[in-house]
Amino acid sequence: MAGIYIHIPFCKSKCRYCDFTSYPGKIGFAEAYMACVYKEMKLRAAECRGRVFDTVYFGGGTPSVIDEKLIAGCMKRIRECYLLAENAEITLEANPGTLTAEKVRVYLAAGINRFSLGLQAASDVLLEDLGRAHTVADFEEACTLLKGCNFNADLMIGLKGQTFADIQKGAELAKKCGAKHISLYALTPEDGTPIYSDYLNGELPDEDEVAGQYEKAYELLSRLGYYRYEVSNFAFPGFESRHNLNYWRRGEYIGFGVAASSFMAGRRFTNTRDLDDYIKCILTDHYPVVDNEEISAEDAKFEKVMLALRTAEGLDEAEYKKLFGSEFYNDFKDALLKNARCIERSDKGRIRIKDEFLYVQNRILVDFLQ
Ligand code: SF4
Repeated sequence: MAGIYIHIPFCKSKCRYCDFTSYPGKIGFAEAYMACVYKEMKLRAAECRGRVFDTVYFGGGTPSVIDEKLIAGCMKRIRECYLLAENAEITLEANPGTLTAEKVRVYLAAGINRFSLGLQAASDVLLEDLGRAHTVADFEEACTLLKGCNFNADLMIGLKGQTFADIQKGAELAKKCGAKHISLYALTPEDGTPIYSDYLNGELPDEDEVAGQYEKAYELLSRLGYYRYEVSNFAFPGFESRHNLNYWRRGEYIGFGVAASSFMAGRRFTNTRDLDDYIKCILTDHYPVVDNEEISAEDAKFEKVMLALRTAEGLDEAEYKKLFGSEFYNDFKDALLKNARCIERSDKGRIRIKDEFLYVQNRILVDFLQ
């Protein structure tokens, strides 16, 4: 399996918690930027020859904020330069308030077959506090436009003043509006973002409170029919994100655009986060890469374990042995002994973190790093 990621770094405005590479107010650069993305695709085509890509993901930023023809043009270039599987999953992130019937028509004609909507919360008060540029009604309208489509809704927990009733409202609204998949993330107050001052002032719920919200949300989502297949991701059976599953299975992916990362042939490389630098590099026929790292065998083992243990399917012992030529139990003996009560092994030879400990997996995985 392999995936293609395209980063669209434009947004209507900057959310108060946002640490992603996004440039509000620069939407006017979108056409020039996408011309660079097309060129980068061409530049990298040779190194991907022979690979079949199963997924494409337009992330951001807000991909739905730029002219839809640029997305359609991008799909055309991808098909010209890369081999896409016939049933490829092609996802576009969209924010409520940026979709129109015409946009959706163009996306579907271009082959987009999955959408991801940033709802975050079903309360206009919470949305305003987050600095989101949309309302709950905008989300409902976007869902109407996507009627019959496969789409995800993003929800957040750990927000200032958020009650469990708010979280419940968000999950139930997403279900009512037709979401087949829900991503549930805890707010991370990143240093340098405006919301960080709320954190410093002690206005955000503490870690234990958020863990409690998560456990209740997990139970609620299960009752609503969404099963948890990764710590933050819930879906109706058959509607898991194939693109993200490929990341967690440590499959290869190639990323285009500013700040995009790739993992190909045992190397991980990342493009510059600076929009001007990115454009300059591409216009002068240089790769815009700022980090380029060959992953050592030891790091590869840890990565494989760390990613697999985030998921409900866990780690396949036989696959591990085939990949690395050693036994998982021998390589991570101490960590396994220390965390024995949190980890289980299925009779199919899969190792996974028990349901009740999945949310605190980071505390467990630290031991695997030693
Ligand atoms: S829409 Fe997403 S990428 Fe854009 S500013 Fe908000 S959180 Fe950041």
